[in-house]
Amino acid sequence: MNAPAPLIAGNWKMHGTDASLAEARAVGEGAWPDGVRVALCPPATLIERMARALAGSKVLVGGQDCHPEPQGAHTGDVSAEMLAEAGAQLVILGHSERRAAHGETDATVAAKVEAALRAGLEPIVCVGETLAEREGGQALDVVTRQVRLSLPDSVSTHPFTVAYEPVWAIGTGLTPSLADIEAVHRALRTALVDRFGETGARVAILYGGSVKPANAREILAVPEVGGALVGGASLKAADFLGIVAGASGA
Ligand code: PEP
Repeated sequence: MNAPAPLIAGNWKMHGTDASLAEARAVGEGAWPDGVRVALCPPATLIERMARALAGSKVLVGGQDCHPEPQGAHTGDVSAEMLAEAGAQLVILGHSERRAAHGETDATVAAKVEAALRAGLEPIVCVGETLAEREGGQALDVVTRQVRLSLPDSVSTHPFTVAYEPVWAIGTGLTPSLADIEAVHRALRTALVDRFGETGARVAILYGGSVKPANAREILAVPEVGGALVGGASLKAADFLGIVAGASGA
Protein backbone atom coordinates (compact mmCIF):
# COMPACT_ATOMS: atom_id res chain seq x y z
CA MET A 1 0.00 0.00 0.00
CA ASN A 2 1.59 3.32 -1.05
CA ALA A 3 1.89 6.01 1.61
CA PRO A 4 0.15 9.25 0.61
CA ALA A 5 2.39 12.05 -0.67
CA PRO A 6 2.77 14.51 2.20
CA LEU A 7 1.02 17.85 1.68
CA ILE A 8 2.01 21.10 3.35
CA ALA A 9 -0.80 23.60 2.75
CA GLY A 10 -0.83 27.24 3.82
CA ASN A 11 -4.13 28.83 4.80
CA TRP A 12 -3.78 32.58 4.41
CA LYS A 13 -7.27 33.18 5.86
CA MET A 14 -8.36 36.82 5.33
CA HIS A 15 -4.83 38.02 4.67
CA GLY A 16 -3.26 38.90 1.38
CA THR A 17 -3.27 41.62 -1.24
CA ASP A 18 -1.16 42.22 -4.30
CA ALA A 19 1.84 43.05 -2.09
CA SER A 20 1.72 39.55 -0.55
CA LEU A 21 2.34 37.85 -3.88
CA ALA A 22 6.07 38.36 -3.32
CA GLU A 23 5.84 35.85 -0.45
CA ALA A 24 4.02 33.37 -2.71
CA ARG A 25 6.68 33.80 -5.40
CA ALA A 26 9.40 33.20 -2.81
CA VAL A 27 7.68 29.92 -1.85
CA GLY A 28 7.55 28.99 -5.54
CA GLU A 29 11.28 29.60 -5.85
CA GLY A 30 12.07 27.59 -2.72
CA ALA A 31 13.34 24.03 -2.61
CA TRP A 32 11.69 21.16 -0.79
CA PRO A 33 12.07 17.40 -0.46
CA ASP A 34 11.02 15.30 -3.48
CA GLY A 35 7.56 13.84 -3.23
CA VAL A 36 6.22 16.58 -0.95
CA ARG A 37 3.24 18.58 -2.25
CA VAL A 38 3.05 22.26 -1.34
CA ALA A 39 -0.06 24.45 -1.59
CA LEU A 40 -1.07 28.01 -0.74
CA CYS A 41 -4.71 28.94 -0.14
CA PRO A 42 -5.15 32.72 -0.36
CA PRO A 43 -8.43 34.66 -0.13
CA ALA A 44 -10.65 34.09 -3.20
CA THR A 45 -9.78 37.54 -4.56
CA LEU A 46 -6.13 36.58 -4.86
CA ILE A 47 -6.42 33.07 -6.35
CA GLU A 48 -6.20 34.09 -9.98
CA ARG A 49 -3.24 36.43 -9.47
CA MET A 50 -1.46 33.91 -7.26
CA ALA A 51 -1.98 31.10 -9.76
CA ARG A 52 -0.49 33.35 -12.44
CA ALA A 53 2.41 34.35 -10.19
CA LEU A 54 3.14 30.69 -9.45
CA ALA A 55 2.73 29.37 -13.00
CA GLY A 56 5.71 27.17 -13.77
CA SER A 57 6.35 26.42 -10.08
CA LYS A 58 5.24 23.27 -8.28
CA VAL A 59 3.09 25.15 -5.76
CA LEU A 60 -0.61 24.30 -5.89
CA VAL A 61 -3.19 27.02 -5.26
CA GLY A 62 -6.37 26.46 -3.28
CA GLY A 63 -9.50 28.18 -2.01
CA GLN A 64 -10.66 28.36 1.61
CA ASP A 65 -14.36 27.62 1.13
CA CYS A 66 -16.96 27.19 -1.61
CA HIS A 67 -20.74 27.25 -1.94
CA PRO A 68 -22.45 23.91 -2.63
CA GLU A 69 -24.23 25.25 -5.75
CA PRO A 70 -22.47 26.05 -9.04
CA GLN A 71 -24.22 29.44 -9.31
CA GLY A 72 -27.31 31.25 -8.05
CA ALA A 73 -28.71 33.95 -5.78
CA HIS A 74 -26.11 33.60 -3.01
CA THR A 75 -24.74 37.06 -2.36
CA GLY A 76 -21.12 37.09 -1.35
CA ASP A 77 -20.52 33.39 -2.01
CA VAL A 78 -18.13 31.78 -4.48
CA SER A 79 -18.74 28.43 -6.16
CA ALA A 80 -16.26 25.60 -6.58
CA GLU A 81 -16.45 26.09 -10.35
CA MET A 82 -15.46 29.76 -9.90
CA LEU A 83 -12.48 28.77 -7.75
CA ALA A 84 -11.39 26.24 -10.37
CA GLU A 85 -11.76 28.79 -13.17
CA ALA A 86 -9.61 31.22 -11.17
CA GLY A 87 -6.84 28.61 -11.00
CA ALA A 88 -7.51 26.70 -7.77
CA GLN A 89 -6.72 23.00 -7.63
CA LEU A 90 -7.74 22.40 -4.01
CA VAL A 91 -10.16 23.85 -1.49
CA ILE A 92 -10.16 23.84 2.32
CA LEU A 93 -13.62 22.87 3.60
CA GLY A 94 -15.12 22.71 7.09
CA HIS A 95 -12.41 24.81 8.74
CA SER A 96 -13.37 25.33 12.39
CA GLU A 97 -13.56 29.09 11.85
CA ARG A 98 -16.27 28.51 9.25
CA ARG A 99 -18.01 25.88 11.37
CA ALA A 100 -18.05 28.34 14.32
CA ALA A 101 -18.61 31.71 12.62
CA HIS A 102 -20.84 30.58 9.74
CA GLY A 103 -22.74 27.76 11.42
CA GLU A 104 -21.44 25.11 9.05
CA THR A 105 -22.59 21.63 10.04
CA ASP A 106 -21.11 18.34 8.92
CA ALA A 107 -23.97 18.11 6.37
CA THR A 108 -23.05 21.55 4.99
CA VAL A 109 -19.44 20.47 4.69
CA ALA A 110 -20.43 17.23 2.93
CA ALA A 111 -22.46 19.23 0.38
CA LYS A 112 -19.45 21.49 -0.22
CA VAL A 113 -17.21 18.45 -0.68
CA GLU A 114 -19.62 17.21 -3.38
CA ALA A 115 -19.36 20.62 -5.03
CA ALA A 116 -15.56 20.56 -4.92
CA LEU A 117 -15.47 17.12 -6.55
CA ARG A 118 -17.95 18.24 -9.21
CA ALA A 119 -15.58 21.12 -10.08
CA GLY A 120 -12.48 18.92 -10.10
CA LEU A 121 -11.02 20.39 -6.90
CA GLU A 122 -9.32 18.31 -4.23
CA PRO A 123 -11.06 18.99 -0.92
CA ILE A 124 -9.05 19.33 2.31
CA VAL A 125 -11.71 18.44 4.87
CA CYS A 126 -11.05 19.80 8.37
CA VAL A 127 -12.12 18.20 11.64
CA GLY A 128 -11.15 18.94 15.23
CA GLU A 129 -12.39 19.03 18.78
CA THR A 130 -12.89 22.07 21.02
CA LEU A 131 -11.03 22.40 24.30
CA ALA A 132 -14.15 21.40 26.24
CA GLU A 133 -14.52 18.29 24.11
CA ARG A 134 -10.87 17.35 24.64
CA GLU A 135 -11.09 17.94 28.38
CA GLY A 136 -14.27 15.88 28.43
CA GLY A 137 -12.45 12.93 26.85
CA GLN A 138 -14.50 13.17 23.66
CA ALA A 139 -11.82 14.12 21.13
CA LEU A 140 -11.71 10.78 19.30
CA ASP A 141 -15.50 10.46 19.16
CA VAL A 142 -15.88 14.03 17.89
CA VAL A 143 -13.33 13.82 15.11
CA THR A 144 -14.38 10.36 13.90
CA ARG A 145 -18.00 11.49 13.81
CA GLN A 146 -17.05 14.67 11.93
CA VAL A 147 -15.00 12.79 9.37
CA ARG A 148 -17.79 10.25 8.84
CA LEU A 149 -20.51 12.87 8.36
CA SER A 150 -18.44 15.47 6.47
CA LEU A 151 -17.30 13.05 3.76
CA PRO A 152 -19.89 11.95 1.20
CA ASP A 153 -19.53 8.44 -0.30
CA SER A 154 -18.50 10.01 -3.61
CA VAL A 155 -15.06 11.02 -2.30
CA SER A 156 -13.94 7.40 -2.54
CA THR A 157 -13.22 7.78 -6.27
CA HIS A 158 -11.49 11.18 -6.06
CA PRO A 159 -8.34 12.61 -4.49
CA PHE A 160 -9.13 14.11 -1.09
CA THR A 161 -7.28 15.05 2.08
CA VAL A 162 -8.33 15.23 5.73
CA ALA A 163 -6.91 17.75 8.20
CA TYR A 164 -7.02 17.24 11.97
CA GLU A 165 -7.08 20.70 13.53
CA PRO A 166 -7.84 20.86 17.25
CA VAL A 167 -9.84 24.10 17.59
CA TRP A 168 -7.91 25.08 20.74
CA ALA A 169 -4.58 24.79 18.94
CA ILE A 170 -5.43 27.12 16.06
CA GLY A 171 -3.61 30.43 16.35
CA THR A 172 -2.90 29.91 20.07
CA GLY A 173 0.67 28.61 20.08
CA LEU A 174 -0.64 25.48 21.83
CA THR A 175 -0.28 22.01 20.34
CA PRO A 176 -1.38 18.59 21.57
CA SER A 177 1.34 16.20 22.75
CA LEU A 178 2.84 14.09 19.99
CA ALA A 179 1.14 11.06 21.57
CA ASP A 180 -2.25 12.79 21.40
CA ILE A 181 -1.68 13.78 17.76
CA GLU A 182 -0.80 10.16 16.99
CA ALA A 183 -3.87 8.82 18.79
CA VAL A 184 -6.22 11.07 16.81
CA HIS A 185 -4.51 10.36 13.49
CA ARG A 186 -4.66 6.60 14.13
CA ALA A 187 -8.37 6.86 14.96
CA LEU A 188 -8.99 8.85 11.78
CA ARG A 189 -7.01 6.33 9.72
CA THR A 190 -9.07 3.47 11.14
CA ALA A 191 -12.31 5.32 10.34
CA LEU A 192 -11.13 6.05 6.79
CA VAL A 193 -9.99 2.46 6.13
CA ASP A 194 -13.22 1.01 7.59
CA ARG A 195 -15.24 3.21 5.27
CA PHE A 196 -13.15 3.40 2.09
CA GLY A 197 -10.82 0.39 2.25
CA GLU A 198 -7.53 0.86 0.39
CA THR A 199 -8.49 4.39 -0.67
CA GLY A 200 -8.85 5.28 3.00
CA ALA A 201 -5.35 3.93 3.65
CA ARG A 202 -3.87 6.29 1.05
CA VAL A 203 -5.57 9.52 2.13
CA ALA A 204 -3.15 12.07 3.60
CA ILE A 205 -4.21 13.16 7.09
CA LEU A 206 -2.70 16.56 7.85
CA TYR A 207 -2.15 18.04 11.29
CA GLY A 208 -3.00 21.73 11.75
CA GLY A 209 -2.77 24.07 14.73
CA SER A 210 0.22 26.27 15.62
CA VAL A 211 2.67 24.46 13.35
CA LYS A 212 5.90 26.48 13.16
CA PRO A 213 9.38 25.83 11.75
CA ALA A 214 10.49 24.95 15.31
CA ASN A 215 7.95 22.14 15.85
CA ALA A 216 7.21 21.02 12.28
CA ARG A 217 9.82 18.28 11.99
CA GLU A 218 8.72 16.42 15.14
CA ILE A 219 5.02 16.76 14.32
CA LEU A 220 5.52 15.64 10.72
CA ALA A 221 7.40 12.57 11.96
CA VAL A 222 4.42 11.35 14.03
CA PRO A 223 2.99 8.12 12.58
CA GLU A 224 -0.03 8.77 10.32
CA VAL A 225 0.69 12.51 10.06
CA GLY A 226 0.75 13.09 6.31
CA GLY A 227 1.52 16.78 6.22
CA ALA A 228 0.41 20.05 7.78
CA LEU A 229 -2.23 22.72 7.36
CA VAL A 230 -0.55 25.95 8.40
CA GLY A 231 -2.21 29.27 9.21
CA GLY A 232 -0.13 32.13 10.59
CA ALA A 233 3.25 30.66 9.70
CA SER A 234 2.28 30.35 6.03
CA LEU A 235 2.17 34.11 5.51
CA LYS A 236 5.95 34.48 5.42
CA ALA A 237 7.79 32.41 2.83
CA ALA A 238 10.79 31.83 5.10
CA ASP A 239 8.63 30.37 7.88
CA PHE A 240 6.51 28.32 5.49
CA LEU A 241 9.56 26.92 3.70
CA GLY A 242 11.05 26.13 7.11
CA ILE A 243 8.00 23.96 7.78
CA VAL A 244 8.10 22.40 4.32
CA ALA A 245 11.74 21.48 4.92
CA GLY A 246 10.62 19.33 7.86
CA ALA A 247 8.55 17.02 5.63
CA SER A 248 9.95 13.86 4.10
CA GLY A 249 8.83 12.73 0.68
CA ALA A 250 6.79 9.55 0.41
C1 PEP B 1 -5.48 27.07 10.59
O1 PEP B 1 -6.23 28.01 10.83
O2 PEP B 1 -5.78 26.23 9.72
C2 PEP B 1 -4.26 26.98 11.37
C3 PEP B 1 -3.68 25.80 11.44
O3 PEP B 1 -3.81 28.12 11.96
P1 PEP B 1 -2.43 28.32 12.79
O4 PEP B 1 -1.35 27.56 12.07
O5 PEP B 1 -2.20 29.79 12.78
O6 PEP B 1 -2.67 27.76 14.15
